[in-house]
Amino acid sequence: MSQANFEDESLSLAQANRVLAHLVGDGKLDFTLRHPIRKSMQQKLGDHFSLDLLKIIDQIEDPGDKSVRFLFEAQDKTLIEAVRIPLLKPGHFSLCLSSQGGCAMACDFCATGRLGLKRHLQTWEIISQFWQIREQTIGRISGVVFMGQGEPFHNYDAVIKAAQILSSPSGGRINSKNITISTVGLVPQIKRFTKEGHPYRLIISLTSAIQEKRAKLLPAASAWSVDELALAVRDYAEHGKELVTLAWVLIKGVNTGADEVKALKEHFDGMKCKINLIDVNDARPNGYERADESERKNFIGLLKELKVPIVRRYSVGNSRHSACGMLAGMRLSELSI
Ligand code: SF4
Repeated sequence: MSQANFEDESLSLAQANRVLAHLVGDGKLDFTLRHPIRKSMQQKLGDHFSLDLLKIIDQIEDPGDKSVRFLFEAQDKTLIEAVRIPLLKPGHFSLCLSSQGGCAMACDFCATGRLGLKRHLQTWEIISQFWQIREQTIGRISGVVFMGQGEPFHNYDAVIKAAQILSSPSGGRINSKNITISTVGLVPQIKRFTKEGHPYRLIISLTSAIQEKRAKLLPAASAWSVDELALAVRDYAEHGKELVTLAWVLIKGVNTGADEVKALKEHFDGMKCKINLIDVNDARPNGYERADESERKNFIGLLKELKVPIVRRYSVGNSRHSACGMLAGMRLSELSI
């Protein structure tokens, strides 16, 4: 949407909320707005704003967990993915949204990281993912996670604005506690997020607490030391009402040893947090492998020393081998043949 100058006839907050409720809350794609927005204002809105949507060019349902992966195309041909995930409560869904086309963080285990960054998404492109998927959904979208393509904090302003629209009672009507933003650990943005006091949940994708290993696994994020990261997260944990989540991508023989638990203890001991374990989902034939059951159990046993909740998470879409960024990656390689 473009900015409009309404000169002497600017929208009041109530009118702006009505516009938002009409376009995002009710999903209507015209400017015939609800009473009592004046006819003259309807005309001005029509003259000054354009309503654009991303185009859905592919969608795949995972026969196992029934998650649906959507591939969108923007006007400049940027490919963007989002996933609809069924929740345990029947008729309720969570969406995993993308914040960028590709990603600049180059995480070593991630398909999107290998695409590189094409560009930041604009707020309306994030909202469009939500809007389009909701139109196809029988049921309610009751949660959103920013864990699709891209590093959300690398596109901070657009992501926060999208979260505000999604949580607005006039917009997406999603409880702000059910909106989660994940970051590989961009320290300045974590500090800003803490200072601004946003109500959304925060996940820090830690995956290793040892600096040298983080430099290999999460190269861009390791621009800050584990010490600096831990201090910023600790400050957030002390100010926030919600437990901060440390996400750990489990990789066979890489980050499941006692050295990691020792480093975790050194940096994060006593912090109000929980640890989410998730199996690596590397698409490459010779890529990182998942830890087997005994390696995982052993690591969980070691982690208990930290006395924080440990939750095992499952990545969706596994039976279609559709890891984060993979649909876009497949489409890109098809296009380049
Ligand atoms: S894991 Fe996330 S931050 Fe890292 S490269 Fe992939 S999309 Fe980017």
